[in-house]
Formats: sequence, structure tokens, C-alpha cells
Amino acid sequence: MRVSQMFIPTLREVPAEAEIASHKLMLRAGLMRKLASGIYSFLPLGYRTFRKVEQIIREEMDRAGAQELIMSALLPAEVYQASGRWDVFGPEMFRLKDRHNRDFCLGPTHEEIFTETVRNETRSYRSLPMTLYQIQTKYRDERRPRFGVMRSREFVMKDAYSFDRDEAGLDISYKKMYEAYCRSFDRCGLDYIVVDADTGAMGGSGSQEFMVKSEIGEAVIAFCEACGYAANDEKAQCVPDHSHKDDCCSAEMPVEKVATPDVRTIEELMNFFKCSSKEFAKTLIYKADGKIVAAMVRGDRELNETKLQNHLGCIELEMADAETVSSITGAAVGFAGPVGLKVELVADLEVAEMKNFVVGANETGYHLKNVNINRDFKASAVIDLRNIVEGDPCPKCGAPVKVAHGIEVGHIFKLGTKYSDALNCVYLDENGKENPMVMGCYGIGVNRTMAAVIEQNNDDNGIIWPMSVAPYHVTVVPVNTTDSLQMEIAEKIYSELQASGVEVILDDRNERPGVKFKDMDLIGIPVRITVGKKAGEGIVEYKLRKAGEVKEFTVEEAIAQAKKEVYSALGK
Ligand code: ATP
Ligand code: MG
Repeated sequence: MRVSQMFIPTLREVPAEAEIASHKLMLRAGLMRKLASGIYSFLPLGYRTFRKVEQIIREEMDRAGAQELIMSALLPAEVYQASGRWDVFGPEMFRLKDRHNRDFCLGPTHEEIFTETVRNETRSYRSLPMTLYQIQTKYRDERRPRFGVMRSREFVMKDAYSFDRDEAGLDISYKKMYEAYCRSFDRCGLDYIVVDADTGAMGGSGSQEFMVKSEIGEAVIAFCEACGYAANDEKAQCVPDHSHKDDCCSAEMPVEKVATPDVRTIEELMNFFKCSSKEFAKTLIYKADGKIVAAMVRGDRELNETKLQNHLGCIELEMADAETVSSITGAAVGFAGPVGLKVELVADLEVAEMKNFVVGANETGYHLKNVNINRDFKASAVIDLRNIVEGDPCPKCGAPVKVAHGIEVGHIFKLGTKYSDALNCVYLDENGKENPMVMGCYGIGVNRTMAAVIEQNNDDNGIIWPMSVAPYHVTVVPVNTTDSLQMEIAEKIYSELQASGVEVILDDRNERPGVKFKDMDLIGIPVRITVGKKAGEGIVEYKLRKAGEVKEFTVEEAIAQAKKEVYSALGK
């Protein structure tokens, strides 16, 4: 393709809402445009890469023996009602009605639909195991769409579902998907780690996420370099800090009410009481499906909402607003405490380790000192509720863990019989007996994977595509398009590479070379061949986007080198 004819609307400035490199670059390089919050169009360059990511995933799914099909995005409510997820999805599900007033949704994920399809068509054990997949558009009305296509409201997911006779079969299907995921992400040039994930309200016997380590990742992962343990923060079990208990006085002291006007935050409390945040306990008020509950963690800790949500088994969990907090505690925000509180209260394991600590008094302007769990208040449950932090003991081996941010690009999940039980997806075994199929589900976000590749492969000048997913492999840049010799050589390189199956563009725009180089760096084409002032000697410049160094080659050498570069990267 000739660049003069291509639709590559590059930008100098991007909207301020683009906070991260991949979002900025996808706009700047003309890969996509925003239509509405969390909704994007892919433009030609972006769509080429998108299709390459998709194709890599497709090839790896096929290699693993999965079969591709495609299902509708517009789905009837009944099957989601049967599984219970019509309610579970809550406001994240886009819902609509047809002209007959029947309920539909735009599919956020397709477990139910695959289960129903297989149930209606598969009866015998002989058909199992079977793994089906699709690469299809999903809709989720995310609470906070952000970071471009990293978290959008319309996105393409490769979703696969495995059907087995038993758990042992599921283990094998799951492992095949695990390997296919590793191969897919390796081929996309991603540096990732696999972490244990929470099976949460979905039930199931195991789950792992593929995380691309990145500071901008919304997921938090804990990993141990000593034993290889890795989990996301929702799953990572925190070991309570016992050290503190020993230096506290062992006897329980009488509760004291202390006037603390205008002392609300932990920081202010530390100054006022002249002690560490470890000697306070925070009482947080939540609304769980409309019901008010309280949760406690040590003053220096953060509560993990997924851990609380899993314990409560609720669908929607949100911090209560100030008005609700006041009506429950009888005090302004900042003075909530567990003593005398008349709602369900869940405490973190560490709160049970604390002695004589400070809490809000449920009275504006007062705190209580020397409070102790069980003596002064009771918790309905004492569980792990807090976020793991760097240096916490590894739950497996005790060595200090590291904590990093990650972008979740893929998720594999042993569902077991949750959906087959709910939707009666059974098969007949050798003895003619009915058994539920044992299922797994496996998702990769195609758009998010593409953005993650950019997040890991860019510099100040733009994107640095790995060859495998670059929109084009090579760009040929004649420095002066009015110089007929330069153009002749550029055309020759262009057509020879094209004939060899290399995806090549020719920057035939009548622009200053600086402008062309800038644009080509921005869109991140891996190989650049520049035809300039040494054209008369048959010499061209050869440069890789990822290395900075410019080499001089004869025309034939440059063509041969570009072919070699492309073929070897693509394993041809
Ligand atoms: P997250 O925790 O980021 O919301 P999730 O747990 O909801 O993800 P899954 O339901 O497991 O995600 O979906 C499978 C894959 O789909 C994810 O690993 C991710 O790559 C992708 N994905 C999920 N939600 C979005 C979204 N809003 N935008 C883009 N990709 C998404
Ligand atoms: Mg989500």
C-alpha cells in the first residue's frame, strides 16, 4: 500500500482523558477513534493489528483442538434467568426489549448460551471431551470505562468452553487451554505472568489469570520469588501480622471514651493519640445489595472489597454514603466504630490479633480507647479481608512477597458443574446413566491484549510493534519523491518485498523526510528502508524500529535482510 492513499489520521495532541501510553498512542497513530465513552472504532492500521492478534489466538485454539463457531451478541433473557445471572450481572449488563416486550441482553459472556447449545445437541459420552470457542463482541456497561480499549463497554473476546465427562477430563482440557494461552501471548510478544485467581461467587475449582505486568494495570498481583507463588490480590491470602501482639500490653484495659473533636482521618488520629496506625481499627460501612454491613481492618490496612463481597455472597457492594453512615452510627463520617453497632459486622483476621485499640465511638467528636474484640463487640465473622502488601509473608513459603500491578489479558476457569447443573446439561455414560458435563471457560480480551502489547512496547517516538502483530512489516521511505532515481529504487524494493509475501508500505508522500520518519516511528513499523542521497551508489539505509542504529546496505542486501527479519520473526 502507498502511504499517500492510506487512511492513517495521526494526531499531534490527544484528549486529556487518554492517560496511559497505549491509549494515547492508539489515538495518535490513528489506530482507533472514540465514538462514546468506552466505545471505539478501529481504523485500518489498528484493525490490521487487531486481526493479527485474533488470528494468533485462533491458530492456537485450533492447535489445541478447540472448534470455532460464532454466536449472536443479542441474547434472550430466559437462559440467563435460568442460571441466575440475569440478576447477578446487575447494571453491568446491557438490557433491552424487543417489539413484543420480551427481555434481551447484549451478551457480556456466553457460558449459558454454550451450555444450552451443547445440552440440546450432545447426549453421549462418546462426543466428549469437546471444546468450542468463538471470537465475538461482548458488551459490558462497565462502572468505569477507562484507558481506551483496556476497559471498554464493547470489546471482542475469544471465549472458549470445554465440556468433559469428569474432573480428570476437565484437568486435561484446562491444561491444553493453559498451554494455548502461553503460546498466544508469547507470539504476541508479551511478557506476562500467570497468577491464581479467585473463583468467587462463580464457584468452581480453580482459576488463573494471565497478567501483563504494568504500572498502569488495574489488577494487583502478589508473587513470591522464593517459591513461585503468584496470585491476584483477591485471591492472595494474607497472613496476619502477629508481631504487634507481643509488644502490646497483654492485659485488657478498661474502655475509655476520649473527646476527639475534628479528628477523623487515621493521620489525625495518629497525631492526636501519638501512636501508630496499627493501634487503630477502621470501621467501614457498606451497602451489600442494599443491606448495611460493617467491616473492620487494622488502621494501616486496606480492605479488599472482593474478599468482603465473596464472604457476603452479594451482587453489588458499595461504600455507604455519608447520610447512611450517619443514620447507622448516629455520628458524622469518621467516627464509626464497632461498639454498639447494630448491623452485621465482619472483621479482618488481624483485628482479632489486636489488643486495647482505638475505634470511633459512634458519636461525633469521640473515639473509644482500649477496645477489644469479643469483650466489647462481636463480629459475625473473622476472616481475611485485607489487601496483601509488599513484604507480607508468602502464604505458601513465608518469604516476603512482592506486589505489582498487572493488566489481565486472559482468564481460565474450572467451572465444574455450575452451569450444567443449572441448565441440565447432561450426557449419558457407558451404562446409560445421566451425568452433568464438567465444564471450563476460557477468555482472552483481544482489544485489551493489543493495548497491552503497546503498553509494553513503546518509546517517546511511538509504538514499537513486535513483528508478529505489526500492521505492516516494512516501510520503504524515499527521502525525496521528486528524485526519479530514489523513487525507482524505492518502487523496486517495495514490489520485490511485496512479491515475497512481506507486508510493506511505500511512503510516497511529498513531505519532508523528518515528517515521514516521525510518522513511521509513531505507527511503529518494525523495519524502515530509507532511499536517500546515496541512491546513486546503489546504497540505502536500513533501520529497525526497536534498535536505533542505521545500517547501510546495497538494495539487494536490504531486501534480503528485510525478508530474513520478517521470516525469522514469524517462524517461516
Ligand atoms: P476485569 O477484572 O478486568 O473486569 P473480568 O474478570 O471481568 O476482567 P473476564 O470476565 O474474565 O474479565 O473476561 C475475560 C477477558 O476479557 C479478560 O481477561 C479481559 O482480557 C477481557 N475483558 C474483560 N472486560 C473487559 C473490558 N471491559 N474491556 C476490554 N476487555 C475486557
Ligand atoms: Mg470485569
